[in-house]
Amino acid sequence: MAIYAMTGGATGIGGELRKQLTEGGHEVISVDIKEGDVIADLSTDVGRQAAVEGVRAKAPDGLDGLIACAGLPPVARPLSLITQVNYFGVVAVVEGLKDLVARRKGTVLIVSSNSAPMVPADDPYVQACLSGDEAAACAAVEERDGHVAYAGSKRAIATWMRRNTVPYAKAGVRLNAVAPGITQTPLTDRVFADEELGQTMRDFQASVPWGGMASPAHIANVMRFMLSPEADFICGALFFVDGGSDAMLRPDHF
Ligand code: NAD
Repeated sequence: MAIYAMTGGATGIGGELRKQLTEGGHEVISVDIKEGDVIADLSTDVGRQAAVEGVRAKAPDGLDGLIACAGLPPVARPLSLITQVNYFGVVAVVEGLKDLVARRKGTVLIVSSNSAPMVPADDPYVQACLSGDEAAACAAVEERDGHVAYAGSKRAIATWMRRNTVPYAKAGVRLNAVAPGITQTPLTDRVFADEELGQTMRDFQASVPWGGMASPAHIANVMRFMLSPEADFICGALFFVDGGSDAMLRPDHF
């Protein structure tokens, strides 16, 4: 049986994946701000360090997989919190635990979003994230809106994944990301309840080609496969699980 560590395992997609992996007989170390085996706030350096040290203490012999699922919605405020958790928190935890995953020739799976391509690659906020300058990225995002803050953070983390695929593979780590579409979770409930973004979200949901909204299990099923030995040759993929939304919006890009 495998041993996994994951962030954002308390609720939603992460909660469902944690349940599925545990039911499959695997050990899961859950890191979250709310509840879990390691309590840590991934928006801060102190919290990120606590996350890395907490996992290291519980898995000294290495990890078969690491899942970076924790994330904040476009309605979170201040906007810099979205940048801190969705981009810098992910990079810090993945980099901090890379050697532990390499020890077992394991895999890292990052949760991006199908909103990632909605912000252009050359957007200054995305570029500020990718430069690794957290203060600059947090300053840049405060001039934008919630949608750009969120989708830009997801674009940046997907790009980070692609840029790091080769060095990670050479180090013995299979790196991938999943790009969920609209999924019924507490995060989505917060967006639906928002005065500004609620209607946009409802319109987007109505446009999903396959219809409706994903359940957390729709996403977790695919993530569980991507983590498994059956997916051993999937490396550097951004896997859309979005009912066809990305194909609808960008038919000529893949
Ligand atoms: P969720 O709110 O149920 O889960 C997010 C988890 O992250 C929670 O357990 C929360 O406690 C944790 N978290 C938040 N801030 C944290 C912090 N500072 N430190 C540590 N943990 C923190 O929402 P979800 O929809 O299951 O989201 C999971 C991931 O999926 C997120 O990265 C989200 O951006 C992504 N996603 C969701 C959707 C969707 O429609 N729900 C679509 C695309 C991508």
